[in-house]
Amino acid sequence: MAIIGFDTTVFPRLDYKNKEAFWSMIEGLKGLFSKNGRMVEPVLEKAPAYQKALGKLDPLIQSYTARVCPYCGTVCCANKFGFPEFADVVVFLALGLDVPRYDLDVDEEAICQFIGEKGCVLPRIQRPYRCTWYFCDPLLVQLEIGPAKDYRNFIKDLQGLSSARGDVLRTFYQIWKEIEAKSQ
Ligand code: SF4
Ligand code: SF4
Repeated sequence: MAIIGFDTTVFPRLDYKNKEAFWSMIEGLKGLFSKNGRMVEPVLEKAPAYQKALGKLDPLIQSYTARVCPYCGTVCCANKFGFPEFADVVVFLALGLDVPRYDLDVDEEAICQFIGEKGCVLPRIQRPYRCTWYFCDPLLVQLEIGPAKDYRNFIKDLQGLSSARGDVLRTFYQIWKEIEAKSQ
């Protein structure tokens, strides 16, 4: 099977438990994008395909979560899942998006700071990627018992999303390694 995603564990850990290190890493990434405009251009060029793939998948996910989540007794949205990883921030910056202002003083196990009355208040593109790819059992069951065509399209679109994100991160990784090597 072809590898379509990207192993984000090659990047440093963005540690929400260390406020100073967390924000300093984010500022470092912002600086990397702003100071190396020409170098990061290939990353910026790949990013819209990811945004498009996410936009394609969003309505279907939304329709299923709207049906299932209001009845959930074990809501999965905890603060610790609402914090981004390094790769999420790379994608936000590649798309020219603001990095949300995370409150790191919250209880990591408590309900996520981004939950509003109607679910997550962040646009899907500004959520950590895990928030999109996490499918609990009730959601999976609903998808499987739904129209077969929906399910087939969902799997195809999910692969498209993973591939588009993989392209952004793979491209960034090569450039990031070069920049890191030069700074040593
Ligand atoms: S995605 Fe699943 S676990 Fe999370 S709130 Fe919805 S039903 Fe609950
Ligand atoms: S989907 Fe939104 S509310 Fe839920 S964990 Fe992710 S960021 Fe938080």
